[in-house]
Amino acid sequence: MQQIKEIYSLLKQPEKVVITTHQKPDGDAMGSSLGLFHFLKQLGHQVTVISPTNWADFLDWMPGANQVLDYEKQTAEANLAIDAAGWIFCLDFNTLSRTKRMEEKLGNASGRRVLIDHHQEPQEDAFAFGISDTSKSSTCEMVYDLIIDSGNRDKINGEVAECLYAGVMTDTGSFRFPITSAAVHRMVADLKEKGLEHSRVHEELFDNYLENRFRFIGNVLQHRMEIFYEYNTALISVPQQDLIKFNIITGDTEGLVNYPLSIKGIKLAAIIIDRGEERKCSFRSKGGFDVNTFARKYFNGGGHFNAAGGQSKEPLEEVVAKFIKAMKENREQLSNYQF
Ligand code: 5GP
Ligand code: MN
Repeated sequence: MQQIKEIYSLLKQPEKVVITTHQKPDGDAMGSSLGLFHFLKQLGHQVTVISPTNWADFLDWMPGANQVLDYEKQTAEANLAIDAAGWIFCLDFNTLSRTKRMEEKLGNASGRRVLIDHHQEPQEDAFAFGISDTSKSSTCEMVYDLIIDSGNRDKINGEVAECLYAGVMTDTGSFRFPITSAAVHRMVADLKEKGLEHSRVHEELFDNYLENRFRFIGNVLQHRMEIFYEYNTALISVPQQDLIKFNIITGDTEGLVNYPLSIKGIKLAAIIIDRGEERKCSFRSKGGFDVNTFARKYFNGGGHFNAAGGQSKEPLEEVVAKFIKAMKENREQLSNYQF
């Protein structure tokens, strides 16, 4: 993988471009893809953004979201764009397998693949160019850096600013996680000077849920959360019947894993959701417990040091039992937590 700066001069030549990201894109995945989309269009490129799957409704307000192709629903159109692309930007994921059913198509594409990502252990040999930096708060911050470093500060317009702000804000937990650097605040200051209305972005992302989501959360906190105080750990497990009963849709469970981290003493929080086709796991930690390694070792997943995910094809009860066993195996680290 050659350094990202090698593409700066090449990007002056207008081309057909595809931008893609991980399945079930979150604020950073969608924000970085659309931020880059609005930037590259200004350089004269013909750009198509493809999401491997659908996404949460609360991302639909983003400028350009209505033009994003859903690979599962618009496969033929998306495949034509991939076949024609000279550049394929891969944002906010470290391995092609994170694009689910797009993996094979992406792997065989003739366009030059460019990685921009902040997850650990990137699949470097899959990309011609790229940058992987786990010290970055978000892929949106990295797209911002790319725009500035390539001498295109003047291309940061209102659309670029809104999209990039959405991703950096959501990936930093509204600027509270330790990864939030001075550079992140300087970036936001710069976006503000370009006219960013940050309150509007917060409202679009967080104040557009339907009542049923809160009834569902109430039920989860009441009946589906177990606390293991001796391990400083909380586990939420959600059976599929809850998702059906409360009419839960993509995005409704976002952030739920963080709730128990607000309980005094809790340093590891996990959620296991039975999505029918698979059991999806999310892990969050505070401080020195590495959930990336934990997710890789036990749940076929990965992510960051303090936020990671995985999945399993086993029944919910077995995945829960597996988690409890894994937690117990890590007793030393979890019980003797260094605060
Ligand atoms: P979430 O728990 O919000 O789905 O994901 C947390 C972090 O872990 C994100 O950065 C996400 O990209 C990563 N992640 C989630 N699920 C998986 C997975 O199954 N495999 C890998 N490698 N990373 C994941
Ligand atoms: Mn991210």
